[in-house]
Amino acid sequence: IQPELTGDFATLMEWVDGIRRLRVRANAETPEDAATARKFGAEGIGLCRTEHMFFDPKRIIHMRQMILADDEAGRRKALDKLLPYQRQDFVELFEIMQGLPVTVRLLDPPLHEFLPATDEEIDDVAQAAEVSPETIRAAITRLHETNPMLGWRGCRLGVSFPEIYEMQARAIFEAAVQVHKDTGETVVPEVMIPLVSSKKEVDLLRAVIDTAAKEVFDATGASVDYIVGTMIELPRAALRAAEIAETAHFFSFGTNDLTQTTLGMSRDDSGPFLQYYREKGIYEKDPFASLDINGVGELVELAAERGRKTRPDIKLGICGEHGGDPASIGFCEKNKLDYVSCSPFRVPIARLAAAQAVLGRHQDETA
Ligand code: PEP
Ligand code: MG
Repeated sequence: IQPELTGDFATLMEWVDGIRRLRVRANAETPEDAATARKFGAEGIGLCRTEHMFFDPKRIIHMRQMILADDEAGRRKALDKLLPYQRQDFVELFEIMQGLPVTVRLLDPPLHEFLPATDEEIDDVAQAAEVSPETIRAAITRLHETNPMLGWRGCRLGVSFPEIYEMQARAIFEAAVQVHKDTGETVVPEVMIPLVSSKKEVDLLRAVIDTAAKEVFDATGASVDYIVGTMIELPRAALRAAEIAETAHFFSFGTNDLTQTTLGMSRDDSGPFLQYYREKGIYEKDPFASLDINGVGELVELAAERGRKTRPDIKLGICGEHGGDPASIGFCEKNKLDYVSCSPFRVPIARLAAAQAVLGRHQDETA
């Protein structure tokens, strides 16, 4: 059953929308989540995590084949298999969103999630790649990382193997052109590069995206507008925001990783000791839930300020878990971000919190 806002609650939300300034988007990569997000009033997709799109058995086999290939030709063979799936993913999302903005984040894996684990999985990949299981085992050993969350993640994979992002960019633009042609909607994809720490990464990968766009537009004789931006989720990216904004049209703050890397605390395993820290009053709130404490917000403020200095109209949003937290939404309003993006079911809460933040500000000003 698709949830929906009805009756008095729907009326209240209309009033709320008349007050708030912040746009509210959703984090979604499946058609179901995108449809739910729209029913709850999302005004776009702020984060489509494309790495989640490859776990279906028909796809994961080629994703593994691609990552474990010895050379570019091997990777391209696997990517050719993945392109039609990926194109269809974006066609469905663009159709559901009917011209609302969709931010597609290029592949951001921790690599170990894609590696085959069992003998059967290794045999399957070997068969697909037409190599021996020993070749696959050697590749797995070569790619092994002790700390994958600090390893070959995000754009580091795209920098190492640009053909991966080239395939994804091609799928995005082919889908956008097709949906625009079929529906007449204006589709303006926002292509997002993850886990950047340097302008050079963004320059290199924006060139890959722009080239893919040009090739698709030349081949189809049609075109769409698009923008290219980055996640800001590492402290160095926040500090270097001024130069990153020379190449990036927008920033989306990935506050899950920004919290993890600023505090040096695992986003997956900190629960037990954070409990003690909260009891002892070292952190008054969970830093992974609230942005308005502990210095992570200061990095967001600083990056917003530096980014705006370079590019006054830079679009700024937030897409970590904090995007659905009312106090953090208040922080985003105070810093005049353009949008928050949260899980589909938190969209109504985010809309309310965004309005409350505006009312709170008026109250402070008139007090
Ligand atoms: C983040 O790091 O805040 C983010 C949104 O990206 P992910 O959770 O996918 O790492
Ligand atoms: Mg992240």
